[in-house]
This record gives sequence, structure tokens and C-alpha cells, in this order.
Amino acid sequence: MATPSRRILIDHARLVTVAGGDGPLAGPRQGRVGLVVDGALAVEAGRILAAGPREDVLRQVTSAWGAAAEREQIDADGRVVMPGLVDAHSHPVWAGSRVAELELRIRGAGYVEIMEAGGGIASTVRATRDATDEALLADLLTRLDQLMDHGVTTLEAKSGYGLSTAEELRHLRVLAQAAARHPMRIVPTFLGAHAVPDEFRGRDEAYVDLVVEEMLPAVAAAFPGAFCDAFCDLGAFSLAQTERVLNAARALGLPLKVHADEFGHLGCAELAARLGAVSADHCIVTSPADMDAMARSGTVAVLLPGTTLGLGSLHFAPARELLLHGVPLALGTDLNPGTCPCPDLPLIMAMAARYLKLTPDEVLVAATRNAAYASGRGAVAGRLEAGFAADLLLLEAQDHRELCYAFGQTPRMQVMVGGIWTRQTRALAIEGAR
Ligand SMILES: [Zn+2]
Repeated sequence: MATPSRRILIDHARLVTVAGGDGPLAGPRQGRVGLVVDGALAVEAGRILAAGPREDVLRQVTSAWGAAAEREQIDADGRVVMPGLVDAHSHPVWAGSRVAELELRIRGAGYVEIMEAGGGIASTVRATRDATDEALLADLLTRLDQLMDHGVTTLEAKSGYGLSTAEELRHLRVLAQAAARHPMRIVPTFLGAHAVPDEFRGRDEAYVDLVVEEMLPAVAAAFPGAFCDAFCDLGAFSLAQTERVLNAARALGLPLKVHADEFGHLGCAELAARLGAVSADHCIVTSPADMDAMARSGTVAVLLPGTTLGLGSLHFAPARELLLHGVPLALGTDLNPGTCPCPDLPLIMAMAARYLKLTPDEVLVAATRNAAYASGRGAVAGRLEAGFAADLLLLEAQDHRELCYAFGQTPRMQVMVGGIWTRQTRALAIEGAR
């Protein structure tokens, strides 16, 4: 089996580096993909040793490795080599199916009617609580494979279908088990404030007390560095409740994300900016003043057009307005059983290029470098630059814009994580879990 210490040289590549400088790219820089038409890329010990114009890279390789050093050499023959995609928002730990809700939605049923018919988040919470660790892990590994088939190499992944201290911790442990088996790089997020569980119905303040006083300290102790997220919206948690949860998380040293402005403008994007949240996600009804606040704080807007598709809606985030205000944009699948059962990030990129009116280059930055920053991994992933992780895609395409142009037919690709082509390691992870 391949070892990460192996040296690899990919030559004659059309390199999309998204490299240079620090931080997420905003405003007119959002579309800077750093294209090198005749490029090369060298990998050593799982990291990028050099990436850029081929003459420069070949010179560096010769000086670092010597002319006759053993290496795997790949002739890309003009094909695209680009950073592995980063999915900045997903809810992949669940059991059960919500397929029956599709017809209810088609008939125009709202959230309450779906809930009363036994559907909604509560039904997923019941099914997920009933599932064994083994069943949750097996389903999760399958989803990671589906995401990686579409080029995702780093995944922000939330809990939030447990909604009790023991269950939330269990789901975060299953995420950690999956991360240990699968080549996907997983960024865990605690989303105890996803919904009020049935046993707290009508007592939502008491549930927020539980999140703040019991869940958060337990999560911070067991998973230091995990993100804390909260669902602030009509029918979810209020701005004041969200602020309590995020303040408590911040006091425990957890970085913050928040579901903001998906349906109702409660002021949550402004809260995200004020508390220094890494990202505010959805941002469909965000006000211009809140956009300015996000731009000043460097809070990334994670846009999730797949959810709009899933809801059969046409209310997309005002992406160009966010860009004009200087807010860096990222993308995510929002993979979840209710509103977006879709692991196909390139499809969501194709949507962003139509409905969010972003150019293919702006979309590519949103799904790589900026999504890495939105996931707290901007210093290690999301671009092809010396010192960064060798997480990359070799596309069967001569133009990176193919990823946004075609939909329903992601270009064939080879996926590398940490200097290892993943086909073999993924098969072993799935096999080992059986
Ligand atoms: Zn979400």
C-alpha cells in the first residue's frame, strides 16, 4: 500500500492553485483561482513540496530530490489538477429516511403539518437515537464515500440529531471513528441547538439551559477545538437563545458557526460578526448592514443553494450583493435527510453558477480555499501551495470550469488525500466497517 512518505511528481498539469496571501478571498479577489497553464506539482511526505510553472517546480525537485531519486511520475497531459473540494456545511450523522416527506412537500405541506404527520427533524432524532453505533458508522462511511466520489476531501460535519448530552457525544464519537477509518478529513461541529427535542416541547428555555450548562462543557472536554453551531431562525432558536449558546461556547474556547437568516431576518448574521464567528451559513435574508458587519469581522458566508433546491424554493442567497459588501463566500452541500439529501458538491457548484450568479472561478474559490477557511482549515487545506496538505483532484478535463458547466455528470477524477490516491484506502475503510 502507498505510504505518505512517497515522492510524487505530477507534470504537464493545468494547475488551479488558489494560492497566495492569507485569509479567505473576498470582493474582486473571490475569483482568483491562480491558474498555471503549463504547471507541475511535487508531493513529499503527504504535503506539497512545490506547485507552479513546470520549469520552476522541476528545478526545485532536482535540487531537493536529486536527478535520479525514486518517485512516482504522472504525466497529466494538460488535464486539470486542483485542490480537493471542501464542503463547509453538512449534517451527515443520521439514521432513517424522510422519503415520505417529499409528497407532503409537493402537496404544499408546511413544517408543522410535516411534523404532525410524524416527519421533520424529530423523526430523524428518533431514528438516530435508536440506531447502534455500528449502523450509524456504516451509513456515515457510505456518505463520506459518496462525497469523495464528487471530489470532497475535507468535510465540516455536524452532530445535531441526538439532542441529549449522551446522544450528542455519541454522534461526535461516531464522527471521530469515521475520521480514523476514512481518508476524508473531518471537521467536527457540535449542533446541540439544532431543534428542541420532543421531551422539551414547550420548554425551550430549559433545553437551552441543558445545552449551555451540561452539553457544552462535556463537548469542550471531549472534543476540544470542535466548532459550536446553532440554528437561529423562525421555528428554531431565537436570537437571544442563540447568543446564550454561542457566548457559552466561546467562553469554553470553541470556535463558532451559526445557521443565520435562512427564513427570517432575526439579526443573527450581525451576531455572528459581533462574536467573531468563523462563518454565518445560509444568509438568504441578510441585510446590507449585517453584510457590512460580516465583512468587517471577516466572517465567511457559507451559501447552501442545494437546500433551496431541496425545498423546491427559488429564494437564493444574494451572493453578488454579499460580494459587493466584501463578504468572502464559501459553499457547502448542507447534506441532511430533510432539506438536502445530496452529496454532490459539483451539482451545488453548478447551481451557484446559475442561481447565485457567481462565475465559475468565484465558485471554485468558494468550494476550496474559502470553504477551508469557513471550516477552520484555511492554513492547511483548500489550495495547492508549498507546505499545504497534498489533497488534490486530477480531473479528466482540460478546463476547471467543467466542474460548474456540466451537472449530473461530474468529470471523472482521481482523488488524493495526504499524498495518497484514495481509491484503495477507501475500499479498505468500508470493508473494515462491515
Ligand atoms: Zn445546516
